[in-house]
Amino acid sequence: MSSISTPDQRVSPSLAIIGGGLAGISAAESALRSGFQVTLFERSRVLGGRAGSLFEPNTGQWIDNGQHVALSCCTELLRLNQRLGLTGFFEQKKTIPFARIDGKRGQLAPAGWLPNRWQFLPAFLTFPFLSLKERFTTGLLLRELGNPKKTNVKVNVKTPESGTFAQWLENKKVSANAIEQFWTPLIFSTLSESIEYVSFDAVQHIVRESFPAGSQAMTFYIPTVPLRTIYHETVAEQLRNRGVELNFLKRVKRFYWTLPADSDFQSDAPQPYASPKIRALELADSSCRSFDYYLLAAPLPQFQEIMSNSALETYTEQLALERFEPASITTIHLWFNRRLLPAKLSHSALLGGPGQFLFCPRRDENNNNNNQQNNKCIYHTVVISASHRLLAEHEFTSRGSLGLAERVVEQLRNTFASSFQKETTQLLFHRVTTHFEAVFSPNPSVYLARPESETPFSNLVLAGDWTQTKLPATLESAVRSGQHAVQILKKIDSLD
Ligand SMILES: Cc1cc2nc3c(=O)[nH]c(=O)nc-3n(C[C@H](O)[C@H](O)[C@H](O)COP(=O)(O)OP(=O)(O)OC[C@H]3O[C@@H](n4cnc5c(N)ncnc54)[C@H](O)[C@@H]3O)c2cc1C
Repeated sequence: MSSISTPDQRVSPSLAIIGGGLAGISAAESALRSGFQVTLFERSRVLGGRAGSLFEPNTGQWIDNGQHVALSCCTELLRLNQRLGLTGFFEQKKTIPFARIDGKRGQLAPAGWLPNRWQFLPAFLTFPFLSLKERFTTGLLLRELGNPKKTNVKVNVKTPESGTFAQWLENKKVSANAIEQFWTPLIFSTLSESIEYVSFDAVQHIVRESFPAGSQAMTFYIPTVPLRTIYHETVAEQLRNRGVELNFLKRVKRFYWTLPADSDFQSDAPQPYASPKIRALELADSSCRSFDYYLLAAPLPQFQEIMSNSALETYTEQLALERFEPASITTIHLWFNRRLLPAKLSHSALLGGPGQFLFCPRRDENNNNNNQQNNKCIYHTVVISASHRLLAEHEFTSRGSLGLAERVVEQLRNTFASSFQKETTQLLFHRVTTHFEAVFSPNPSVYLARPESETPFSNLVLAGDWTQTKLPATLESAVRSGQHAVQILKKIDSLD
């Protein structure tokens, strides 16, 4: 080990945050407000993590790694955006348009004159893809899911036996059409998993978070600039101005830790706030830094790598991390010569094909150096959540993600047939990105494995969308985990 700098005699406790994704960003912002002296280590060149952008040489524009959308039930994310001055980078949409492969259209739009929780009722009663009976029963099931007293399924995130959502729908004798036209799109877009694998608890949690707020919870926040502009350029400047030391291209390799003389870490169950203690971190260039506290906000694979490099398998073995199954998200980036959606729409749910959501978001000229404004090369994205399920199917195996892209283009040709038939719409080029570890599958057993923020180390806490927030892997989960980890450190610091 090379030199270890000791923490200086500041009044503010020093905190090292490892990872500059949304969990690390929210932890940094929260730690500053709590009086910590923050140093952040990020192994890449940018902040944002999975909420990042890629360069597209054909158009000279930054496009997002995958379309990221937040709903207004993402309360902590929206508050963080506000505190960091990011609110202006998002457009808000209250309506959810639907476009089916046979050309049929529908929408769920709130009725502003009704109380919050009833605002979607009129739209729901006329939702064209369900029969009258299906609309009625779907409404009752949503109400049951949103109301803990009315749900006759045992809800316990600590037991994997609580079952999948498909089993619950089967018990409720939900029709195949309602599953295909309503429940499947809803679950794919909120939980990035198919109903056969997703846990009942995860669905219930989502509905309970959104249901009381009615249409307020269903407002979509869609970025109007690349994520890089928001979560790297703007946030980095904000954090630096507030005194955070940002270190890019600095991969944390391992921790050095010490056992207190009287403890037996190997055999004891982890005790929050008890020793052992992290003494220093080592970077990939072999330099070491020492801090009062450490907040590890890296994704699961890197968490495991750092822990095993630090000879801390005893801790990770207690976590049953093998229960985590990665879920992929494929994004088909498409450039057409004109918009597929009317100008007032930025998004539409798609029904009847592999593509689940189409986006053609507003792009703010000053904030994005693309050539979309000339109306000749319009950027669209189609999102396919849980694409690992589709890619595993026979029909896609030979051509992988490209096969999926062809199917999506075909789906769009059918869905927007009149536009294509007139030959006014042409696909100029496309690009496919699949993020194989985009999120984790919210299956029934994973909740047992999600670690709490506290660790057996008295000065180390965890954050990240995969830690125990009870939410699926989302921006909101990441933000809440970062804030929660800082709350724990504050408590520890006041005890010290
Ligand atoms: C294609 C795609 C689409 C998505 N769509 C949505 C959406 O619409 N809505 C939504 O809410 N969520 C969406 N998500 C999920 C969302 O992006 C994640 O839940 C969230 O960004 C996770 O944040 P995080 O900070 O926990 O992890 P990450 O973003 O993975 O950040 C971790 C950071 O740690 C860094 N790091 C790792 N190891 C080390 C190390 N050893 N040393 C230093 N740094 C390290 C990484 O480089 C990274 O920057 C999507 C994800 C993808 C991939």
